[in-house]
Amino acid sequence: MTAYPSLHMIIDGEAVTGGDRRTQTIVNPATGETLGELPLADTADLDRALETAQRGFQRWRNSTPQERAAVLSGAARLLMERQETLARIATMEQGKTLAESRIEVMMVAGLFNFYAGEVFRLYGRALVRPAGTRSTVTYEPVGPVAAFSPWNFPLGNPGRKLGAPIAAGCSVIMKSAEETPASVLGVLQCLLDAGLPSDVAQAVFGVPDEVSRYLLASPVIRKLSFTGSTVVGKHLAKLAADDLKRTTMELGGHGPVLVFNDVDVDRVLDVMVGHKYRNAGQVCVSPTRFIVQEDVYETFRDGFAERAKALRVGNGLEDGIQMGPMANARRPDAMERLIGSAVDAGATLNAGGERIGNQGFFYAPSVLSEVPLDAEIMNEEPFGPVALINPYRTADEMIAEANRLPYGLAAYSWTNDVKMQRRIAREVETGMLGINSVAIGGADSPFGGVKWSGHGHEDGPEGVQACLVTKAVHEG
Ligand code: NAD
Repeated sequence: MTAYPSLHMIIDGEAVTGGDRRTQTIVNPATGETLGELPLADTADLDRALETAQRGFQRWRNSTPQERAAVLSGAARLLMERQETLARIATMEQGKTLAESRIEVMMVAGLFNFYAGEVFRLYGRALVRPAGTRSTVTYEPVGPVAAFSPWNFPLGNPGRKLGAPIAAGCSVIMKSAEETPASVLGVLQCLLDAGLPSDVAQAVFGVPDEVSRYLLASPVIRKLSFTGSTVVGKHLAKLAADDLKRTTMELGGHGPVLVFNDVDVDRVLDVMVGHKYRNAGQVCVSPTRFIVQEDVYETFRDGFAERAKALRVGNGLEDGIQMGPMANARRPDAMERLIGSAVDAGATLNAGGERIGNQGFFYAPSVLSEVPLDAEIMNEEPFGPVALINPYRTADEMIAEANRLPYGLAAYSWTNDVKMQRRIAREVETGMLGINSVAIGGADSPFGGVKWSGHGHEDGPEGVQACLVTKAVHEG
């Protein structure tokens, strides 16, 4: 049995706890049990973190690629050695199944390994100039980064937010979600144990709005990296704009899935049902609006509902569980509100639509069909275990529906018609597109959105580029 660890912040390498700091109670979403008490930063803590980050930046910007690579690949090795413990802790505090948590650890290790190679590829270039003169373009780390990440991927989100600045030569102050603190502490500890100097990366917790206002008001911070809702993202982007800080914004989505008449419905359901209810639907790239062509619509809807009802829901630590609880009490409340108002507006409930049990934050895998376009759930990211399935006649109508919302993070399409695949690739407004596939990410692939889903990327060479500034030097 893995014990849930005691909680602290990590400021300048020191475990910070106690004193007269406020605390927040951390709860297991499967059982409602208290896991621990998390200390929250006061302004003295944040001042210390800022001073440390400034010092860490001056040190780390001068580090060699070999040093950065050694830290990143060493941390990747430690993550895999600690995989089972980290996965159990993530499931205890976030709720997802143990299998999903194990994959998350592997994802972070894979990303750190990719970045360990990427540090050697931050090439500049020499321009063609007359003999005796020289003009070069080089990339330099942007400066100390303030990173804010949510609770849905408690290991993966902080992994991305720590890995890229470290690869680029920046320092970083990480404020991950207060609801899942032990996971980020576990990832950061792997980096520190792999030799990362203690002033380069730190973890603080606090009242989110207080911490972000304080850090973003400081001239020390040169870049904001945020993952979370569009509404909070817009607010933080405005704070960053006051000081013209660079931003990477990974915001909400409302993933359209176009399913055409020519597909093998069972095969599509085999893939999409699992992808829909992964992490209880609390995923920014979750497939949400199923835009289904009329000939396969009824078979698709009924098959989806049947498979949703058959899913085994329970404590993610137990064997055979396919979907855990939602991560916090706000999510089942939101499901109840969004599904209730859709049914009131005329949608049909084909599966779920109710809470499960009387402890924790469980909500049944749900399916709604014939959902009016003006229902709130067709316009607001549901961020939960609900599929919205509507029928369409033509490709024009399907593409128009995919592009109807201001979001553009992930989209999916199922068709065997190559010309249609290319049309979808060209016309659907999205940052990531899966054609007959849901594998839309990877350590080497840029992850990010367009429109209200944000800007900038994580992962891939783009993730490190986002932490660099360009300098042109001309020697006469
Ligand atoms: P929320 O929008 O209040 O919080 C989302 C995350 O942002 C949390 O980690 C929170 O700590 C952080 N946050 C909130 N206000 C902040 C601030 N002023 N400064 C810095 N960080 C701040 O809501 P929530 O109830 O936690 O989640 C609800 C919605 O958030 C979901 O419906 C979903 O749309 C969105 N969300 C998106 C992602 C994603 O991966 N894009 C992840 C989690 C939540």
